[in-house]
Amino acid sequence: MTIRAIGIIGGGQLGRMLAMAAARLGFRTVILEPEADCPAAQVANLQIPAAYDDPAALAELARLCDVVTYEFENVPVAAAETLAREVPVYPPPKALAVSQDRLVEKRFINDCGIATAKFHAVDGQADLEAALADFSGQGVLKTRRLGYDGKGQKVYRSTADGIEGGYAALGGVPLILESFVAFEREVSIIAARSADGDIVCYDPAENVHRDGILHTSTVPARILPETAAVARDAAARILSALGYVGVIGIEFFVLADGSLIANEMAPRVHNSGHWTEAACVVSQFEQHIRAVAGLPLGKADRHSDCIMQNLIGNDIVSLPEWLRRDDTLVHLYGKAEARPGRKMGHVTTLTSTRAEPDVPGKKARDR
Ligand code: AMP
Repeated sequence: MTIRAIGIIGGGQLGRMLAMAAARLGFRTVILEPEADCPAAQVANLQIPAAYDDPAALAELARLCDVVTYEFENVPVAAAETLAREVPVYPPPKALAVSQDRLVEKRFINDCGIATAKFHAVDGQADLEAALADFSGQGVLKTRRLGYDGKGQKVYRSTADGIEGGYAALGGVPLILESFVAFEREVSIIAARSADGDIVCYDPAENVHRDGILHTSTVPARILPETAAVARDAAARILSALGYVGVIGIEFFVLADGSLIANEMAPRVHNSGHWTEAACVVSQFEQHIRAVAGLPLGKADRHSDCIMQNLIGNDIVSLPEWLRRDDTLVHLYGKAEARPGRKMGHVTTLTSTRAEPDVPGKKARDR
């Protein structure tokens, strides 16, 4: 089938960048998003201003589009399944179901043969106490659903860390306690799979968070080639197991010996892949559009080293300085008001190739 129009559920900056990539490949885009004048609708052909699970809006989206995708992982699974009966939905709704629940996600990742932190389901205070005892008092307590940017979490560093009332403090909802991972650094990998089963992976990025929000992504990450290969292999396993079509982002912790622990996956383009628009011929956004539209994937090769930095809230005041630099690509999201913690845009600075850095596991390899 010839694809002419692509539906995108969600109207944020990721939808905006997907719509821009789609336009460059000659596609029309329709955004389903309740918020008026959202970042994605500013650059798309049409917005359906309705809730993500509004039956009439979903029917309209299916009528107007040849394929539907999404830009955030909390799209209601039932809405995606309803749509999928009318029009192809990529990535498959199963990817939403898996990534919306940290417990289901960890079990799925383990079933793919990939290591995660150890974990226990926590459905009450007694569960929390038993789980913390199993992890010698250390762990990260998280809501199973709807957590993002470090929200809905509590870190336990020792048994002195106020266990009492810990379950209720996160809202009395289903939780998961993860063992505390003493990682050296955090990396993520952006990968894509086509409907034909072709897979491409971008080079892993090294990520630094501030106040739970991604601050910078640096490429190349300071990891061994062997570590990068493990990340690529993990991505391929996850994509194949889901019969996935589109781009996925997977976050990992890197341990001192160079081994990897998967943290979470996002069935969408990912903030830690924004650098690809400046340092690769085919960005993660174009790659996703190619995949969902049934076009061949592009190469994921990188022509430059780079560092991407998010412009969050008041960071936007530094815009004139960024614009004066001739090594930096500036990308703003069209948001009128710079509220604290709000992602306003990002900048990617191309950097020169560096000497081989000190990476986890290097000493063991060189011995
Ligand atoms: P998440 O919402 O799962 O991405 O977690 C937010 C941040 O908390 C991560 O980027 C890590 O820096 C930290 N974190 C999450 N889980 C763990 C863990 N099990 N052990 C240590 N740090 C963690």
